[in-house]
Amino acid sequence: MVVVGASAAGLAAAEGLRRSGYAGSLVLVGEEEHLPYDRPPLSKQLLAGDWDIDRVRLRAPDAYEALDMEVRLHSRAASLEAGAHTLRLDSGEEIGYDAAVVATGVRPRVLPGTEGVAGVHVLRTLEDALALKASLANRPRVVIVGGGFIGAEAAAVARRLECEVTLVTDQAVPMADALGVEIGSMLTALHQRHGVRIVTGALVESVTTEDGRATGVRLADGRTVPGDSVVVGIGTLPNTEWLAGSGIPLGNGVECDATLHAGNDVWAAGDVASWPDPVTGERLRIEHRTNAGEQGLAVARNLLAGSDATPFTTVPYVWSDQYDLKIQIYGRTRGADQVHIAEGSVEEGKFTALYARGGRVVAAVGANMVRPLRALRPLVAAHTEWETALAATPTAAAPRNVTPPSG
Ligand code: ADP
Repeated sequence: MVVVGASAAGLAAAEGLRRSGYAGSLVLVGEEEHLPYDRPPLSKQLLAGDWDIDRVRLRAPDAYEALDMEVRLHSRAASLEAGAHTLRLDSGEEIGYDAAVVATGVRPRVLPGTEGVAGVHVLRTLEDALALKASLANRPRVVIVGGGFIGAEAAAVARRLECEVTLVTDQAVPMADALGVEIGSMLTALHQRHGVRIVTGALVESVTTEDGRATGVRLADGRTVPGDSVVVGIGTLPNTEWLAGSGIPLGNGVECDATLHAGNDVWAAGDVASWPDPVTGERLRIEHRTNAGEQGLAVARNLLAGSDATPFTTVPYVWSDQYDLKIQIYGRTRGADQVHIAEGSVEEGKFTALYARGGRVVAAVGANMVRPLRALRPLVAAHTEWETALAATPTAAAPRNVTPPSG
């Protein structure tokens, strides 16, 4: 068995194979030089200096020996021939396999012309986070491009480290496409209270430079925003180019069936895997840490189960830490057409909210209400009918609807 991608999903798949009783040869191939590590803390605890590198490692080095797996770090998969069951590394070496798991994840989208420009950062790898952390130590003026979770988390850390921060986003309200206007506005106000300058409705076109160093960003309308350090958090692209011509179906990621099988004994897990939702039939591709672990284990089980493989189902879960606020999301908010505050108050930054699409619950979002939010998870899992769900929630004094997400 060969697993391509040595991060959360790949590691879970490799461990899952051993746990399910697979005793044959097992190779884990990873492009990075590090043993598998956890990515969510990179834009949070690691960036802030609260955790060191050892703390983000997923397993101690000796765990890999105990699992009797060959870990090939610093090895990039160059191509795959699904029919021939052969993987080729960029060293030219070929590895034959009975089954392969693709867990190559995603990479950050970049702004054109920023390659090699000093002072421009993205946040995906440990190296990215360490480079940004080193830069923040000099208290630069920071320009953050993108008002998604990466941008918002980086802004929160940069403010804590006393940098001057401007967050620029093309949205009218940061995070509104993910969470809706009211909750996006509450988060915007939170950042403003912490001293972040927020520029909305502004599409960043490029980074301005002088002598190969970033001096800020240029907007599509010609305006510029000055800064010494530019953090780009404008979404990601799935790492599938190396599979071109492999015989594996590619679209928005590796296109799998409901069991995460992409055909010809190639399976996929984690950020790169797209699969049909068994409930809606809609293709999903989820970039969450918890999904990576669940899919890695599911692939291991299904791969060994033969014709007994079962569809992968999940209630997606993701969280974000910004200042002293913990935001948690169960399900999928995008495309929701109704939102209802179930408990607490958005203004006070302590609430739970339910999201519906087509008359059924699709997500629950909470801020600093961990336990009450968990109680709403079954409503998301069951796609509960909207009126039934509302009747079952601990309704706030004056229940109210809020504006749904636009994305
Ligand atoms: P991430 O995971 O990097 O936070 P998201 O897709 O969740 O990615 O959020 C990216 C945000 O960046 C979105 O709000 C999007 O509207 C914004 N964005 C994308 N491209 C640009 C751009 N060129 N200029 C300003 N904002 C952008």
